[in-house]
Amino acid sequence: MTDTLSGKVAIITGGNSGIGEATVHRLAREGARVAILARREAEGHAVEQAVQRAGGEALFMSCDVLQRASIEAAVEQTVARFGSVQIVFNNAGGARPDRFPKPDDDAWEYTLRLNLTSTYIMTQIVWPHLIAAGSGCIVNMSSFAAVGSGSVAQQALVPGLPPPAYWAAKAGVEAFSRWTATKGAPHNIRCNVVRPGQILTPPTINPATGQHFAEPYFDFVQLTKGPGYAEDVANAVYFLASEESRFINGQVVNIDGGTVGKV
Ligand code: NDP
Repeated sequence: MTDTLSGKVAIITGGNSGIGEATVHRLAREGARVAILARREAEGHAVEQAVQRAGGEALFMSCDVLQRASIEAAVEQTVARFGSVQIVFNNAGGARPDRFPKPDDDAWEYTLRLNLTSTYIMTQIVWPHLIAAGSGCIVNMSSFAAVGSGSVAQQALVPGLPPPAYWAAKAGVEAFSRWTATKGAPHNIRCNVVRPGQILTPPTINPATGQHFAEPYFDFVQLTKGPGYAEDVANAVYFLASEESRFINGQVVNIDGGTVGKV
């Protein structure tokens, strides 16, 4: 344990798994008190207890980021328990497959809401608390999909592309984050983005190989060999949430081993 984030309270959506879970542990190790927001309760409580066993402080609360009222309740509960909020990591995300070019507006709306609209709603709800705290750090979760592309030959290396709404939502997160940084600057609120590439987490592991589902593609376009891990992203989120990055604002940090092919 260190104390670089001591006195800070962090909200992490999707903190019961993968990148969010690793970030809960990273920030708690630095002395932050961490609110873990996600739907699966057993996994959430397991992370909460693991933090406590390591000497940190965390609180799991069941939250569905698709529901405004659920985010409102979780933020309220966080403030009631910890007294304030200074750090927010809008990490919850994913995608529902769609049937493009067949119509599937429901899948489109779901994926946009999960990744982008939830980030907007959380930012809006937590804003008065960041202003009351006198400073804030928001880190939003993008993806290589926001700027990535692939030739026909490269596409042959990937079993299935994420649906179009995922690409659009993550690009939207990046644009919204620039707006947030602009709006937050007068209030000492910074907003930055992490943009991971090949990161091994439960939904990206191919059970047959133990590798990332798009490993053959990334092997082809990535400078650094091998996959990234949730901790690689957590380290960057910690940096962006700490005073060590005080002069970095409105930026996107690629955590992708130097993946080429961004357009
Ligand atoms: P995980 O599946 O491990 O994490 C996704 C998290 O989101 C889970 O904790 C899940 O918890 C939570 N979540 C999903 N839906 C909701 C909901 N409606 N309300 C609240 N929480 C929800 O995968 P990753 O760690 O890989 O993904 C984390 C983020 O990283 C995502 O935004 C993803 O798009 C992004 N990303 C991941 C990459 C990778 O290679 N792994 C690459 C680029 C971006 P629960 O289901 O319990 O609610």
